[in-house]
Amino acid sequence: MPPVFRFAPSPNGVLHLGHAYSALLNFERTRETGGLLLLRIEDIDATRCRPEFEAAIYEDLAWLGITWETPVRRQSEHLADYRAALDRLSAFGLVYPAFESRAEIARLVAAREADGLWPHDPDGAPLYPGDSKSLPADERSRLIASGVPYALRLDMAAACQRAAGLNWNELGDGPDGERGIVPARPEAWGDVILARKETPTSYHLSVVVDDALQGVSEIVRGQDLFHATSVHRLLQVLLGLPEPAYRHHRLICDGEGRKLSKSSRSTGLRELRAAGITPAGIRQLVGLG
Ligand code: GLU
Repeated sequence: MPPVFRFAPSPNGVLHLGHAYSALLNFERTRETGGLLLLRIEDIDATRCRPEFEAAIYEDLAWLGITWETPVRRQSEHLADYRAALDRLSAFGLVYPAFESRAEIARLVAAREADGLWPHDPDGAPLYPGDSKSLPADERSRLIASGVPYALRLDMAAACQRAAGLNWNELGDGPDGERGIVPARPEAWGDVILARKETPTSYHLSVVVDDALQGVSEIVRGQDLFHATSVHRLLQVLLGLPEPAYRHHRLICDGEGRKLSKSSRSTGLRELRAAGITPAGIRQLVGLG
C-alpha cells in the first residue's frame, strides 16, 4: 500500500507562504515515497469559509505545480461521519453538554484566576472552568428542551482513564525539538469541545475521523498543531482508529518572527504572484530552494 499524505487547508482566507511550505513538503514526501497526496477542504465553520477561497486554493496549489488525487473531500459534505463518531464517544459516556455562554466562561475564568492560577491549554486559552459535567440528567434535558445553545465537551478525565499512556511517532520536530516517540498529554487541553448544538463536529473530531477514513499514513503539518496531536491520538484510540505517523514542520514567520496569518497580505500567494514572484521564487522564500 503506498503511503498517503494530505494537505488540509480551511477555505477561510487565501493561502500564504506558510501554506505553500506545508503543501510543498507534503508533495515532496509523496514524490519521495511513491505515495498519494490528498487535498481536503476543512470547511466545517460555515460562518468563515467561502467558495471563492476554496477556488483560490485549487488555483494557487496548481500554480505551485502541486497535483493531488480527486475527488477532493469537503468536510461540510460528511457531517454524518462525524456525528457517528460523536455518538460512539457519547455511548462510552465521555461526552456532556455544557451550557455556559462565552461571557459566562470568561467570568468563571476570571473568578478562578482571582483564587489563584487557572491553567491554560497549549494554545494559551484557559481550560473550561464550568461544572456542566455534574448537572443532573433531568436538568440537562430541561435545558436542552428549552433551546439554549450548548457545546458538547469531552470528559477529559474519563477519556484519559479509558486510554492511558498514549504517545506518537514524531518524524519531524516539535517546538522544543521533540522527536521520535513523544508522550501524548491530552489532559493539558481540558474538556475540549467536540461539537456544538448546531454543528455536529469540531476541528479535532473531523480531522481524526477523516485521516482514518482516507487512510492517511503520514501527517505533514505545521508545528502550531504539534500539541493538538495529543488530543488526536486520544480520539484515535477511543474510536479504535489506526495511528498515523506525524511530521511537524517549522513555521514560516514574518519579519517580526510572528506566525503568518491569513490576513498578512504581504505573504499571500496571490499578492506575491501579482508582484511577479514565480513558483521557484516561492520555494526559495520558504527555504526549499
Ligand atoms: N485545517 C487546518 C488548518 O488549516 C489544518 C489541519 C491539519 O493539518 O491537521 O490549519
